[in-house]
Amino acid sequence: MTVVVRNVLVIGGGFSGMSAAIELRKRGISVDVVEIDAGWRSYGAGITLGGATFRAFRTLGILDAFMERGSATDGLDLCAPNGSLIAKLPTPRVAGPDVPGSGGIMRPALASILAETTRAAGADVLLGATFETIAQDDNGVTVLLTNGDTKRYDLVVGADGLFSKVRETVFPNAPKPAYTGQCVWRAVVERPAEIETAVMWLGPKIKVGINPVSKTQAYIFATVDQPIKQRLQEGEHLGLLKKLLEPFTAPLIVRLREGLNESNSIVYRPLEALMLPRPWHKGRVVLIGDAVHATTPHLASGACIGIEDAIVLAEELERAGDVEAGLAAFEGRRWERCRMVVENSLRLGEIEINDGDKQEHSAIMRETIMALAAPI
Ligand SMILES: Cc1cc2nc3c(=O)[nH]c(=O)nc-3n(C[C@H](O)[C@H](O)[C@H](O)COP(=O)(O)OP(=O)(O)OC[C@H]3O[C@@H](n4cnc5c(N)ncnc54)[C@H](O)[C@@H]3O)c2cc1C
Repeated sequence: MTVVVRNVLVIGGGFSGMSAAIELRKRGISVDVVEIDAGWRSYGAGITLGGATFRAFRTLGILDAFMERGSATDGLDLCAPNGSLIAKLPTPRVAGPDVPGSGGIMRPALASILAETTRAAGADVLLGATFETIAQDDNGVTVLLTNGDTKRYDLVVGADGLFSKVRETVFPNAPKPAYTGQCVWRAVVERPAEIETAVMWLGPKIKVGINPVSKTQAYIFATVDQPIKQRLQEGEHLGLLKKLLEPFTAPLIVRLREGLNESNSIVYRPLEALMLPRPWHKGRVVLIGDAVHATTPHLASGACIGIEDAIVLAEELERAGDVEAGLAAFEGRRWERCRMVVENSLRLGEIEINDGDKQEHSAIMRETIMALAAPI
């Protein structure tokens, strides 16, 4: 095996960065991870995942841990606010005949599975730190870290998310994340007995959904039209979410709304998106995950494409004759798939904001789910 990189710094220990560390370590490459959050915490409620994500989990070696702690089911039901069925979307068993095509897990549970695997793979993780400066030449990258260390790397991977400082440093003129005109509410609830798979209720300008995330828990989400980005106080969350759910008369939503209280970990988040034009690398610094393609959650595929980036990056570095060729090949394999996810998600958001055609909405979902089943 030609090893064009021997040591790598991954900046950002989220889903994408941890996956990069795991995949690079498998190839015998020395990996340091710097994560700015000293507690290495993952916020938010549940996360919805599809068959392509489970295929990526299988590659990472975390599928069994996911199946143990998360929830995997088949299909997605789309309903009207009163509960009547609009469409049943199939979710292909991309990871193999033994693994359902859809599912969910609590974010902290997925983060802890990945963190344990990252450490077990032998990556050196530095928490509560980031970079001060990055300087590169033809042969390597010199990075000054906030703990005062200066180290030399063959490659730096920027996996520091939507508001990436690595992106700002390497591509100062890159577009900034843009607010999309929607926000998302999420709350963790006890898993209702009648819920076997994910369900979404498509109302005018608001979409509500529920997805199981473990044997005992589910999370509900509401994607809402909100022309101006707002910050809310935590004390307002419960009342506002209950009010938003009022027009939904499906019996399950009525019951869940009535049962909501302060213990349901309600999270509110305005939605922002970003799709960086190519190139995604400059010299020996490359961006992956939300740092380069941050999607809205309409196709529940943001984590998937970030983790896939990590897998493809490691594969192409292993295959390439030099770093530039490896990074160009990585981008070539990733660009169209990531663009499709970001742009189709934005289109779904537009349809929701304009109370547009529900059939077009479900067709885009169906087509994208099928397209994501293609090999990476
Ligand atoms: C409301 C909402 C709901 C979503 N729901 C889903 C879903 O259901 N399914 C799905 O697949 N995707 C979903 N997504 C998208 C998904 O969460 C992201 O695509 C995914 O988390 C991206 O992972 P990442 O590692 O690239 O970035 P991040 O998760 O942002 O991780 C970046 C990491 O870098 C660290 N960091 C930041 N700055 C620095 C720095 N300067 N130095 C060092 N470390 C730094 C951060 O602390 C963090 O640990 C959702 C997104 C939103 C906003």
